Amino acid sequence: MTYIVTERCASNRYTDCVADCPVDCFYEIQDPHMLIINPDECIDCDACVPLCPVNAIYPEAEVPEEYEEWTPKNDAAACTDDNRITETVGSLDGAHSIEEVKQKEEEKFGNPLADPSSAAN
Ligand code: SF4
Ligand code: SF4
Repeated sequence: MTYIVTERCASNRYTDCVADCPVDCFYEIQDPHMLIINPDECIDCDACVPLCPVNAIYPEAEVPEEYEEWTPKNDAAACTDDNRITETVGSLDGAHSIEEVKQKEEEKFGNPLADPSSAAN
């Protein structure tokens, strides 16, 4: 298994999640602007999930059906030494709150999606 960063991170990119990753397996991508996890490096420790302010990270087995397309976007081929991120650097301008993320999901899917089971909020 691995852990998957989903659309909830796109254009938000808080980076709180990188703080406790024991193997530094987060990487920044630009289109959309967000972080992804290298599935070849993640050791499934679950430390990052409760750190994300918008509950964007799911264990692969818990990724909502509506976000399944995000699983292959967490692609080892997109992860290099140049885009690895190991320190929290703050969110993007205009980053959304969890309430705004859930409102967007309600508009797009008809209901807000389930949070990962170990989410903190
Ligand atoms: S904390 Fe959440 S929103 Fe921020 S970069 Fe990590 S997964 Fe994305
Ligand atoms: S589950 Fe653990 S190893 Fe995997 S990305 Fe999260 S903090 Fe890193």
